[in-house]
Amino acid sequence: MKKQTKKTVQKSPKKETKSPIEEVVADVVGPDVIALVKILKIQQNVSEFKLAAKMKQEINTVRNMLYRLYNANLVSFIRKKDQKKGWYIYYWTFNGKQIKYIAADLKKKKAEKLSERLAREKNSMFYNCKNKCLRLEFEQAMDFEFKCPECGNLLEQEDNSLKIKTIEKEMQTIQKDISKEQRNKKNKK
Ligand SMILES: [Zn+2]
Repeated sequence: MKKQTKKTVQKSPKKETKSPIEEVVADVVGPDVIALVKILKIQQNVSEFKLAAKMKQEINTVRNMLYRLYNANLVSFIRKKDQKKGWYIYYWTFNGKQIKYIAADLKKKKAEKLSERLAREKNSMFYNCKNKCLRLEFEQAMDFEFKCPECGNLLEQEDNSLKIKTIEKEMQTIQKDISKEQRNKKNKK
């Protein structure tokens, strides 16, 4: 039960400054891959051995990152047979064109999530513990007889109007962004 109730506690989003490419890569593939992408951005058709050397990482670690990028359609490769050793070496190229499509997609998904959150904030009553243990919806709070299941304090009804305003603002920003991009797309056609 404890775990379930903890989930309703809202975390504030992390604030980081990343380039759009880094943001997409971190979101879709994982933040550990950003360093690799930085190398791939500068050079095309880089062998995975060279990448591993530059990253100072094991070849298998780098391969794993490359496969994840490949699955996200963010890299392409060519393979060439090494004449001396007889095995294939893979040469990788960053697929930067994909970034804007993925970024647009992420933005759309974020907007959807925000609108779900907004609806939830608007349609439910929330109860808080003074000790900031947790935040519960009305039904859950009722289940606990309006007592905090963590510390036993009486739960208080929360005024979430500020939270609603913040989400609304965030949504406006994203929607402006989305419609701006759509306008740009139309102009280019
Ligand atoms: Zn509490």
